[in-house]
Amino acid sequence: MAEQAANYLKKPLESLNLITIHLGNGASMAAIKRGKCVDTSMGMTPLEGLVMGTRSGDIDPALPFFLADQLGMNLKEIDNLLNKESGLKGICGTNDMREVIELKRQGDQKAKLALDIYCYRIKKYIGAYLAVLGSLDALVFTAGIGENSSEVRALSCKGLDRLGIRIDEEKNARKSEGIREISQPDSPIKILVIPTNEELKIALETVRALESMEKEV
Ligand code: AMP
Repeated sequence: MAEQAANYLKKPLESLNLITIHLGNGASMAAIKRGKCVDTSMGMTPLEGLVMGTRSGDIDPALPFFLADQLGMNLKEIDNLLNKESGLKGICGTNDMREVIELKRQGDQKAKLALDIYCYRIKKYIGAYLAVLGSLDALVFTAGIGENSSEVRALSCKGLDRLGIRIDEEKNARKSEGIREISQPDSPIKILVIPTNEELKIALETVRALESMEKEV
């Protein structure tokens, strides 16, 4: 994402500070300082960080003790609960963002709550990473939800105008393939939507690893 953002912005990656927001079934954000990733929202496992389809993301670290103590749950059950039954699914019954948005449109309060919590957590990380980076060139949305949901992008960026993040409602609502810019022309921080291509990145990294192995042999 960072490389593609640099290409799009026609600037060397090493000169850019970026926040990437990957919102698929799994979701994570990264703070990129002068082209190098300095923080990511996932931890030792993918459970940490953003609210996801079925993962809780950040929780009070005392919660597993409470669940074991008060509800008699064992480690396996707690692991299953936090990884497979939480997040959007735990709050409103579905892990599919399209369904969450449709349910909210029909007036479902749990779906509204799920969407609000989901976007609140993203906004919180944007704020944290802005502080970490000191200045920001672009915010990048990607993956199933990041690329397709104008509602999630709008809610996550809502109220950040004074921090330099100004989304353009009309550009945000427009559907199109490929890299696109959805910030207002005067937005000090650009907001980009970049289609994810994990398979290509994995293939390129594999080639790179094989080449460096060959050199060592
Ligand atoms: P991924 O893991 O990148 O395939 O993303 C999966 C997620 O993207 C699921 O939660 C889908 O509901 C969501 N998604 C795909 N298309 C849309 C859309 N048009 N609007 C909202 N969410 C979408």
